[in-house]
Amino acid sequence: MRRHRLSLLIFLLAVTSLFSQTRKNATAPQTPSQFLGFEVGADRKLADYRQISSYLKALAASSSRVEVETLGKTTLGEEMIMAVISTQENLRNKVKYQEIARKLADPRGLSPDQIDAFTAEGKSIFLLTCNIHSTEIGSSQMAMEWAYKLATTTDPEMLRRLGDVIVLLVPSLNPDGQIMVTEWYRKHLGTKYEGGAMPYLYHHYVGHDNNRDWYMLTQIETKNVNRMVYHEWFPQFWLDEHQMGYYGPRIYIPPNADPVAKLVNPLVHRGNNLIGASMGWRLEEAGKSGVIYNYSFDAYWPGGTRNTGWWKNMFGVLTEVASARIATPMNILPTELQGGAKGLIQYQQQINFPNPWPGGTWRLRDIMDYELLVSDASLETMSKYRREFLRGVAAMAGQAVRSADAATFWRIPAEDQRDPVTASRLAALMLEHGVEVRLSADKKNYLIATAQPYGRFADEMLSLQRYPEVRPAANSGILEPYDVAAWSLPLMMGVKAERVKLSPEEQRGSAVIKTASWPTGGVSGNAAYYSLAAHQNNVFALINAMQKAGAETFFHRGSGESPTVVFAAHAQLAANAEKLHLHPDALPALPSGAKKLKPLRIGLYKPYVASMDEGWTRFVLEQYGFNVKNIENKEMRAGNLNSSWDVVVLPDSSKEIIIDGRASREGREGSSEEFPPEYTGGIGREGVRALREFVEKGGTLIALSHASEVLLGDDFGLPVRGAITAPGAGEARRAVPTAEFNIPGSLLRVYIDSSHPVGYGMPSEAAAFVDTPLAFQTSSPAPGTERAVIAWYPEDARDILISGYAHGAEKLARKAAIVGFTRGQGHIVMFGFRVQHRAQTEGTFQLLFNAIEWGAME
Ligand SMILES: [Zn+2]
Repeated sequence: MRRHRLSLLIFLLAVTSLFSQTRKNATAPQTPSQFLGFEVGADRKLADYRQISSYLKALAASSSRVEVETLGKTTLGEEMIMAVISTQENLRNKVKYQEIARKLADPRGLSPDQIDAFTAEGKSIFLLTCNIHSTEIGSSQMAMEWAYKLATTTDPEMLRRLGDVIVLLVPSLNPDGQIMVTEWYRKHLGTKYEGGAMPYLYHHYVGHDNNRDWYMLTQIETKNVNRMVYHEWFPQFWLDEHQMGYYGPRIYIPPNADPVAKLVNPLVHRGNNLIGASMGWRLEEAGKSGVIYNYSFDAYWPGGTRNTGWWKNMFGVLTEVASARIATPMNILPTELQGGAKGLIQYQQQINFPNPWPGGTWRLRDIMDYELLVSDASLETMSKYRREFLRGVAAMAGQAVRSADAATFWRIPAEDQRDPVTASRLAALMLEHGVEVRLSADKKNYLIATAQPYGRFADEMLSLQRYPEVRPAANSGILEPYDVAAWSLPLMMGVKAERVKLSPEEQRGSAVIKTASWPTGGVSGNAAYYSLAAHQNNVFALINAMQKAGAETFFHRGSGESPTVVFAAHAQLAANAEKLHLHPDALPALPSGAKKLKPLRIGLYKPYVASMDEGWTRFVLEQYGFNVKNIENKEMRAGNLNSSWDVVVLPDSSKEIIIDGRASREGREGSSEEFPPEYTGGIGREGVRALREFVEKGGTLIALSHASEVLLGDDFGLPVRGAITAPGAGEARRAVPTAEFNIPGSLLRVYIDSSHPVGYGMPSEAAAFVDTPLAFQTSSPAPGTERAVIAWYPEDARDILISGYAHGAEKLARKAAIVGFTRGQGHIVMFGFRVQHRAQTEGTFQLLFNAIEWGAME
């Protein structure tokens, strides 16, 4: 009887599954063009993200080879999706294949036979991500065509490949930006602005820097994908499809260019090159010219999508196809073709570029065709070498464990820190990355074993960097880094961390944790006032939260080492303190001399030549609850800024952009574009005068990095000049040749005057993120102005570099890094380094927060 019931159950299940199968196939899948009603890939036609997403959902509804998973919401609330594509059989067993991938990524405890068995049984998991940079639009369109092809193919070879591989297809890593770009493009079709750049960032906060966020995980889109990759699917291979400029090679494929990161397992490059070889083969076979490798994109920097995974034993490849003007074709003359990047100095035939593209028309369709070929080639290779890729991941993870000393740990004190919340944030970030983190038996230290599958990732993130000096020829200069040269997280975040050997006794009782052990927040007792030492970033978040709640907040300099912030008792204090992991102490009375802090209206200047630093600054200030809004040119020119603002922040941008709206020709991507008239011009001379008047009437003006050049001129008449550029010279980065000065994004030592309000609560020495030749030389001021050097570089040039690369650092010796001025009723602060660089430099955030509060603290 029991048996019969069981067979009946199985029979019913089979019928149900047959039914749902029939239902799924009720409508035959439509091509993207049929579904959307226009020819996808045609000139001047684009599908926006919502169309792409609805197409993939329709495909999933009509094909048993496609499922759609939701990765989460985007910054602006779009649903971020991923198509999972394989045979019906594989999709039915996807949980099993995820589990096998997870086990191979962390093979500790598995015998060689078990690894063999998983390798035999598992499927290759191939993640293909598209369109992280929104103007690099081709891959978002290609994704629909490729999904359709895989869903409907009857070719036995393609079906065999799908039997070996599960494809994870993310049609856009930045849906919000994809929508912005298609809307802007459609709006300007048929005008002279067709295919031109937008006057704003294509991500609400970070623009192009969304591909610089993959170790810090500050943005919601990055977090969504990181969770899927390192906690759910564990793909062995990640292909990220980009586009590059107009006038060079047509496609970049691996091998990468030099230099190469020391801690990445060389097998990663062997696997990547295998895939690259297969891409090159299929492209040449199809008659596609202009294929280059060993070009521009180095194997050193861990900040972009797939390269972060290299340190986690994952294969990962970048491709870059030449761009058109969005979906508008370009006709490129042979004389316009150019090299100029690492690996191709002259545009000519070379062994890494055996078949140069001769010039001609280049259109969206070409971009998509090249991308379809590299996507196919990757699938082919992941199928052909399925076992090798699966075994490779397990081999690298095993080597990471065995090659490290089992007694060596990173120790991050949880409590004994200037800013304990930030220390826990670092531990939480490592957990988010999938790193195994332990808490010591006494709960006082986070411990990260170097002998673990992601041990080399932890070492890379927590150690100092020494940029490898690779010279392409004797007597030549070194190869420049692709992005920055330092990412030492403890230094950037201002957290103490040490690489130590622990005795078995010291390791005993430590336990693996799933979440960070955040400091306990809240308030105890029932007092009229509560105080906190002002040397933690979250203190500012608490000030802002309590001011929003209508509570009184005060600043007290006191006589102790660190000033304090005082909060009047309020119903919401305990809950806010708990949320922010802070514990203010009860005070019987308000200390004498305490200054009341008032809610500040912060205006953040937003130029039309979009500044990523503006976006990052807005992001950081919003994260800490500051009341920040943008000021545009018109408002700046109109003057009377004090009526609307207490603080004005000029984010990093050149003087030409801020004053005239004119980008230098060597500016960032798209910056030499012409914008529609409503987006032209800058703050003008009127704006500069308005800023000066704003300060004289009591405002606080903060200039970040190159924006300080606006204040260095005669208009302000401040007793300061650029210390590296010649006086009166234009943009500083052009004024000093890289042969003399080259600090491409490194952490340098600065000394800080913590008796100055902008330095309050800071240590006497900090790591400053420097990526540009900028420092200040002050002089004795005229009556009515006071000047202060708040931070400065060491006198001995050898003491300057802490992590990364610095050539010409002696030019910074004894020069000012942050200067402050009082003028009339107001204040000016100029930051020569990147105090809030990409929301990573938490160790120096407080300097910016202090500068904002300076007016109230004095
Ligand atoms: Zn890109």
